[in-house]
Amino acid sequence: IHSKLPNTMVSIFSQMSALAEKYQALNLSQGFPNYPVSPELIALVNAYMEKGYNQYAPMAGMMPLRERIAQKIEAMYGLDVHPESEITITAGATQGIFTTIAALIRPGDEVIIFEPAYDSYRPSVELFGGKVIPIRLLAPDFNIDWAYVRSAMTEKTRLIIINNPNNPSTKMLCREDLLQLELLLKDSDAFLLSDEVYEHIVFDDRVHETVLSYPRLRERSYVVASFGKLLHTTGWKLGYVIAPPILTGEFRKVHQFNVFSANTPMQLAIADYLKDSNSYLELAAFFQEKRDFLTSGLQGSRLEVVDSESTYFLLVNYSAVSNLSELDFAKHLTEHYAVATIPVSTFYSAPCEQNLLRICFAKDHITLAKAVDLLHKIV
Ligand code: PMP
Ligand code: GLN
Repeated sequence: IHSKLPNTMVSIFSQMSALAEKYQALNLSQGFPNYPVSPELIALVNAYMEKGYNQYAPMAGMMPLRERIAQKIEAMYGLDVHPESEITITAGATQGIFTTIAALIRPGDEVIIFEPAYDSYRPSVELFGGKVIPIRLLAPDFNIDWAYVRSAMTEKTRLIIINNPNNPSTKMLCREDLLQLELLLKDSDAFLLSDEVYEHIVFDDRVHETVLSYPRLRERSYVVASFGKLLHTTGWKLGYVIAPPILTGEFRKVHQFNVFSANTPMQLAIADYLKDSNSYLELAAFFQEKRDFLTSGLQGSRLEVVDSESTYFLLVNYSAVSNLSELDFAKHLTEHYAVATIPVSTFYSAPCEQNLLRICFAKDHITLAKAVDLLHKIV
């Protein structure tokens, strides 16, 4: 077969989860929680299914949920977002990203992404004939040199993708970064895709800068969010995309043939749940406690923890232990120490070895305590 994606392999998340299963290792690789979802939320889903809400949702999503999202954005950021014309419910953030790219990218278009980059961006761009222009950011700071970004832009630049807060670096963009981005886009016709799925999971009183708060960015942006991160329900595959009406119109032209609509009873349940609960305000403290437990637990081990600023991931440097490549070391840890992690090199398109592994700490206390024990055994 003449593959459309010759360089795309089975995703590292599937690979490492399978390896964890094979060696019965603690799976701290793929990012997902291992503790229960709110029983109230589950009861609401069941109630809606029993009440008969089991058929197609409207193409753009159930209105009560879109209204609730608008209210949440108003409460969080003091911004007006129109539920009818600016919010579309998607089958996870992944579909929101894919559909945005499908709606915008033509053969030959250039798309700037920052690496380490979430794995779905590149293949989605390449499927539509776009050319990825990667900009490499390195540990420990992963800082963006905006003058360099400007030099990478051409008249073919159609889209810039940012991921803030960032998986896997855990770095967050600051106000100055977004102002720089605004200046760049002023002189270009490019659009912006802002993947903000970890917007609530930020530590040490840091403040998330959403693109929505920058009018000159917002007018040409698609902002992607995920209920998987908000409600600890990654398996429900629900998220949403916010964009100005004209951009939303283009998005929905593709969305209607990409999935048409997303899961009905869960949308209604989440809308009800968010009416009575702003548990998302507690996410930062909830995950910060886990981050702190793992960070202090690893003191005295041979792994050096890189400060985690956000998300539910932590990077560790294993330079003191091994010269193996990140992929080989991650496999070695899974097989011999029963802990599965993600090699950070897999978030770069060209070889980039920094002796870094990503650990997911969205886990219950017992699992994290076990992880600390196992990781201390590394010699
Ligand atoms: N973007 C980033 C940066 C992510 O980490 C993830 C999932 N971990 C997604 C998008 C996809 O989110 P979803 O599961 O809602 O498709
Ligand atoms: N986003 C999750 C992570 O970074 C994985 C999602 C997936 O498996 N595609 O681990």
